[in-house]
Amino acid sequence: MKYFPIFLNIKNQPIAVVGGGDAAVAKLRLLLQTEGQITLYDDAPAPEIATWADAGLLTISRPPMSAEQARHACLIHAAAKDDSRDAGTLFNWFNNLKNSDFITPAIVDRDPVIVAIGTEGAAPVVARAIKRVIEGRLPQTLGKLAKIGQAFRPHADALPFGRVRRDFWSAFYFGSGPTAYDASGSDGAQAALNELLQVFTQHTPKQGHVDFVGAGPGDPTLLTHKARLLLDEADVVLYDRLVDPRILELARREALVIEVGKTGFGPSMAQNEINQLLIDHVGRGVQVVRLKSGDPSVFGRLDEELEAIAAHDISHSIVPGITAASAAAASLGRSLTQRDRNSGVRLITGHDMAGFADQDWRSMAAPDTVVAIYMGKKAARFIQGRLMMHGADAETPITVVENVSRADQRTISTQLKHLPQAVGNLDGPAVLLYGVIPCIKSCKIYQEQVLERCN
Ligand code: SAH
Repeated sequence: MKYFPIFLNIKNQPIAVVGGGDAAVAKLRLLLQTEGQITLYDDAPAPEIATWADAGLLTISRPPMSAEQARHACLIHAAAKDDSRDAGTLFNWFNNLKNSDFITPAIVDRDPVIVAIGTEGAAPVVARAIKRVIEGRLPQTLGKLAKIGQAFRPHADALPFGRVRRDFWSAFYFGSGPTAYDASGSDGAQAALNELLQVFTQHTPKQGHVDFVGAGPGDPTLLTHKARLLLDEADVVLYDRLVDPRILELARREALVIEVGKTGFGPSMAQNEINQLLIDHVGRGVQVVRLKSGDPSVFGRLDEELEAIAAHDISHSIVPGITAASAAAASLGRSLTQRDRNSGVRLITGHDMAGFADQDWRSMAAPDTVVAIYMGKKAARFIQGRLMMHGADAETPITVVENVSRADQRTISTQLKHLPQAVGNLDGPAVLLYGVIPCIKSCKIYQEQVLERCN
């Protein structure tokens, strides 16, 4: 990010505009909505500017702007580079982004609610398109409601800080506020606020609640809509190490986001500590999201956490996510089951708490079996040995997909006889799809790795 977006207080501050042509007129349309004191430097400004000056909205001054005037200004918008540039004053040159100290974003104005959209000059068309979408979604009355709400804040501060107060404001802005304003203007909105405050004052505090949420394999667009909504609401997010950082970004900025340092196997924070953390936070009456990679019900030790909270009668829900095997198969352009070939698919783990996990190797060794092996890297040699011992074909195809759905995803197409070597150098999480061959056409981008590692 080269430009850092801020909102500058320019109430009664001197703003200079140098040049009075079309670009200045466009800029002034925006600046006139502010409470800055505008001085325009031009001998013969456009007629529109003269009209604004006659109406007392700005002052026209003879150019050139002196060094003293430039120093005094808070912001300067100028048509062309001149010598009046002074260190300490922020300059914006019309049509000269490179030499500008600041740029003006596209703005959606529901004063005091202002949405500023910038693309650092890279794609003004995109900024305009976003502006159109937001314009359409924010009611015109939003600014008025926000002003009424602002004046009411001292009363609302009587409500307990946190969830209750947030729910109160949500109920106003997205519930009764707009309807009341449309029906009876400011008085209606004011009455709605008083009524809501009464309801919320008598309200018994909300009970804590935990949602066990699947974060999917990494790509945030593979997150469910419900997961997004819950992340937006959560007071506390407890997440496992495999959860992609881009997904944590979606949590509310005020939320407490805590890593519980757990990978799929071998927890680095003991399970009972995680359980206790959950219970402690929910006990404070807050909304907790327990975020697990993929699907929480697949090798996520969900049942242990469910059991722990059950003893405390804590309300909860489970939100499924896309498990690594599904996302991996999708990236290979393959189905996990196939009519007339494998009518079932197994999800197994290479590890359990006791070490390498034992499985029904005999049935897995049968031809045309498809198995998604989680946590299989360290156990690769063990898995290979057991399967071969039970008669599996050494040339059974295995596709290893590392970092599924992330920018550094790698796909390795190998065979059972080469499995330990194929996974030997992988650092990221990987799922092993036993009995699956990638559809090269669908995953062209990984072809290089496929060929490179295909022994
Ligand atoms: N609940 C998760 C699984 C957690 S167990 C799910 O449904 O996907 C951890 C194992 O999942 C890892 O060792 C790896 O085998 C697999 N895994 C999780 N995320 C992955 C990813 N992005 N790419 C490849 N494998 C992944």
